[in-house]
Amino acid sequence: MNVRDSELICGILKNAGYKICASDKEADIIIFNTCSVRQHAEDRVWSLIGSYKGSKIIGLAGCMAQNYKERAFQRDANISFVAGPQDIYKIPEILGKLSSGEFFERKIWEVDSSQRPEEIYHTGFFQDKSHAYVVISEGCSNFCSYCVVPYVRGPLRHRKNKNILMEIQEAIAGGISKITLLGQNVNAYHEDGVNFTKLLTQVNALEGLKELGFFTSHPKDANIELFQAINDLGKLSKTLHLPLQSGADRILKLMNRGYSVKEYLALIDSYRKIVKNGLLTTDIIVGFPSETDKEFKETCGLIKKIGFNAAYIFKYSPRSGTVAAKLADLLTKEEKEGRHKKILDLQRRISNKLRAKHKYAKA
Ligand code: SAH
Ligand code: SF4
Repeated sequence: MNVRDSELICGILKNAGYKICASDKEADIIIFNTCSVRQHAEDRVWSLIGSYKGSKIIGLAGCMAQNYKERAFQRDANISFVAGPQDIYKIPEILGKLSSGEFFERKIWEVDSSQRPEEIYHTGFFQDKSHAYVVISEGCSNFCSYCVVPYVRGPLRHRKNKNILMEIQEAIAGGISKITLLGQNVNAYHEDGVNFTKLLTQVNALEGLKELGFFTSHPKDANIELFQAINDLGKLSKTLHLPLQSGADRILKLMNRGYSVKEYLALIDSYRKIVKNGLLTTDIIVGFPSETDKEFKETCGLIKKIGFNAAYIFKYSPRSGTVAAKLADLLTKEEKEGRHKKILDLQRRISNKLRAKHKYAKA
């Protein structure tokens, strides 16, 4: 999502007459488009911003901007402007004000918009010449208890069906042959009487498109209709990313994920029956507040049982303002790191084994 948002920022700035530099050394303006999902991402941004001293204009955009608002200027006085994810379209206007000398303090923050104008999706700027990311919905209303996304990106909004198709057709006309549809919960897409599988069917039918994929499916909204589309639509990747997060029902409930282990397993079962040789990937969080060693082992057991082709494994990171941040977090840093390492090792072994099997099957 952030890769695409950075392209949107580049696109609107290019249209406003700015030049995108190949390196930060040449640039007069540096904009950090940021993520707040885990503390680690935030720490890296603060440390990078701290490394720029002097005459450049520094902007903080995206989720951290929304989170910190004007407090960002106290954290680092080098920052000249702050623009939240819904306000990135204002960046040319902000830069205009900053360079007009009208703003003596040289500090501007824009974090109040609830909606992006549709135009920002149509600047035609894609970093990759053949592969484009296309946002189908913004924000999220799921409120998983650990997650900051609904707070910084606002409630779920679906883009209009005709606008999505128009953006994709523009991309294809510009030479793009592979499209990845993006949303925090793509399965929930519903606009103008078009649901997600209908949207996939529409995009799959577009002439000039060769490959199609999507991120991310939420297990509580994934269904047989989706799996059937994965199997049937010729251009659609036969890979499903279905974040599990934990293999223990008590933790899933505390996470507010809206499904049980049994329901997740039933989904995987129908996916594998419908999509022959389909690949499966997931996200896991270890060290959620109060996760016991037994619950951690349940997650490891489930990972082994399911056999994911790949998994993103994260250490729980408390996010201020979320429900989970208020839960007692008694696990030590060493315990979380130990579990993280164990599960990474386990997944590496599973991925390697499945990769070898897949290669063998293909040969
Ligand atoms: N909308 C997507 C996920 C977006 S965030 C979904 O629900 O699947 C990507 C991943 O980051 C999540 O799946 C989760 O595993 C991880 N994540 C989110 N918040 C986190 C936190 N506070 N600590 C650690 N990992 C987190
Ligand atoms: Fe966060 Fe849950 Fe929404 Fe994903 S579905 S963005 S994890 S609140």
